[in-house]
Amino acid sequence: MDSDQTDLIIFHKNLRIKDNESLYYGSLRQNYRCIYIFDPKYWRGNGKSVRQLYFLKDCLLELDCNLKTLNSKLEIFRGDYFEFYKSLAKNSNKYNLYFNHTTDINYYNTQYCKFTKIAAECYNVNIFSDFGVQRGAETNRNQWSKFWESQMNQKIHDIPMPNKYNKIKKELPTISLDTFLKISVDTCEKDFLEIQPGGTAAAEYLLSTFFTERCNGYRFKMSNPLDARDHCSRLSPHFAFGTISMRYVYQKLKNELLNSNYRIDLHSFKKRLHWHCHFIQKLETEPNLEFNSMHSMCDTLRSSENSELIERWIMGETGFPFLDACIRHLRKYGWINFRMRAMIMSFASYNLWQPWQKTSPLLAQLFVDYEPGIHISQVQMQSGVTGINLPRIYSVLKQSMDQDPEALFIKKEIPQLEYENLDNIHNAEIKSKYPGKVIDHKLSAAFARKEIWNIRKSEQFKNIAKQVYLMHGSRFRRRIK
Ligand SMILES: Cc1cc2nc3c(=O)[nH]c(=O)nc-3n(C[C@H](O)[C@H](O)[C@H](O)COP(=O)(O)OP(=O)(O)OC[C@H]3O[C@@H](n4cnc5c(N)ncnc54)[C@H](O)[C@@H]3O)c2cc1C
Repeated sequence: MDSDQTDLIIFHKNLRIKDNESLYYGSLRQNYRCIYIFDPKYWRGNGKSVRQLYFLKDCLLELDCNLKTLNSKLEIFRGDYFEFYKSLAKNSNKYNLYFNHTTDINYYNTQYCKFTKIAAECYNVNIFSDFGVQRGAETNRNQWSKFWESQMNQKIHDIPMPNKYNKIKKELPTISLDTFLKISVDTCEKDFLEIQPGGTAAAEYLLSTFFTERCNGYRFKMSNPLDARDHCSRLSPHFAFGTISMRYVYQKLKNELLNSNYRIDLHSFKKRLHWHCHFIQKLETEPNLEFNSMHSMCDTLRSSENSELIERWIMGETGFPFLDACIRHLRKYGWINFRMRAMIMSFASYNLWQPWQKTSPLLAQLFVDYEPGIHISQVQMQSGVTGINLPRIYSVLKQSMDQDPEALFIKKEIPQLEYENLDNIHNAEIKSKYPGKVIDHKLSAAFARKEIWNIRKSEQFKNIAKQVYLMHGSRFRRRIK
C-alpha cells in the first residue's frame, strides 16, 4: 500500500455507514479520514433552517459513534469548499477524495462543481451515485425507469473496512464533532417544539414499524393530517440526510411485498419511492428551476409580492382555520402530509397570487425533510407553472370538511376555537377572537383560474410545454398534445 496516500471521505448528505458507496470504497485501503464540511453560508442558503440543523446534529452524533466502531471518527471542516481546497493544497499529501453525488441548491452545486474540477487536477476524485438520479452524460429521460430499477437493485454495499491508522495528522484544520456542536449548534435558539429524531437507528425503527403495522390503511390515511402522522412512513428527513439508503428501503420493501397483509398499501409506498427520484431528477437536469418556472411564460404571471399577505400565510393567520391549523402544525413539528403541503402552497400561489420564488424558501425552512429537488418541483407544480401538469386549485373549505369533519385537528392546533360551532369553522366564518379572512377564497380562485387558463391557451405556450415535457415529463403519462 502507498502509505503516503490518504483517502478522504467527504460527507454531505450521506450520513450513514450502511450502503454508503463513497465510504465503502474509500475504506478499502484502510487508511481513511471522514470529513463533514460544514459551510455556514450553505446553511443560510435557500430554504435551510435551524430545525434542519438540529436533525443534522442527531445524524452526525450517531455517525461519529458508528465510525468509532471502525477505528475512525468524524472530523468537521468549518468553511466552504474553496477554503477546504486551499487547506488541502497547503500540504504536499496525496489525497484520494470520495463523494456521493448530491442534487442540491445552486449555492452548493456551484461550490461542489468548482471544487471537484480543480481538485481533479491534483488528486484522485471519485464520485458515486446516491438515489436513482441520472447525472451528466447518463441522462436520458426515455431510459429513466430502467436506470432507476437497475440502481435500486444493485447489491447493498457492505459495512466499510475498519481503519488501520487512526492517528489524525494535523495538516488539515478540522475540529472534533464536540467542538463543532458547541460553537455551531448548541447556541442556536430552538424555533420549534417537537421534531423527529435523526440518525440511522431512528430510520430503521420507522421502516420496521411501518412495514409491520403503521402502513395498514396508508393509502387512505395519508390524506388527513391526523392519521398521516402515524400512518405515513415518516422516512422523508432520513432520505434527505441520507441516514438510510433508498436502495436498502426498496429491497426491503420488495421482500416485504411477498408476504405482507398490506400489499396494496405497500404498492402505493413503492410508487412514491420512484417519485422521490423522479422529482429530484428535474432539479438535477435543470438547476435553474430554483429560480425560474419550468415553463418560461409562467414567470410573468405573478410579478409582485405582498409581504403582509405572505407573513400572514406563513404564520398561520389567514383566517381560514383548517389552513392555519396545518401551518401551525408544520411550524411545531416540522412535518405535514403531502395533501396539506399541496393545499398550503396552492393557497399562496393561487388564492394569494404570490410569486412562488418568494414563498417557496419560507415553506422549505419549516420542513425538517427539505429536499430541494422535490420541494422546488412540487412548489412549481402546485403553483401551475410547469406547463405539463394540469393546474389544481385546492379549496381550503372543502379540505377542511373532507379531512377534518369533526374539527379535531383544527381544535388541537388552535385551542381558542374549542367551543366554536363546526359550520363556522369549516366555512371560515369565525366572528371573534380570530384573524379575519385574508382574501375572499372564491373570488381569488376565480381570478387565478382565469389568469392561468388565459396564458395556457396560446400556441406558443403549448410549444414550450412540449419542450418541457421532453426534458422533465414522466414517460408513464400520456403525451402532451
Ligand atoms: C409543496 C410541497 C413541498 C414538498 N417538499 C418536500 C420536501 O422538501 N422533501 C420531501 O421529502 N418531500 C416533499 N414533498 C413531498 C411529500 O409531501 C413528502 O415526501 C411526504 O409528505 C414525506 O412524508 P413521508 O416520508 O411520511 O412520506 P411517505 O408517504 O411515507 O412516502 C415515502 C417517501 O416517498 C417520497 N415521496 C412521497 N410523496 C412524494 C411526492 N409527492 N413527491 C416526491 N416524493 C415523494 C418521499 O421520499 C417519502 O419519504 C413536498 C410536497 C409538496 C406538495
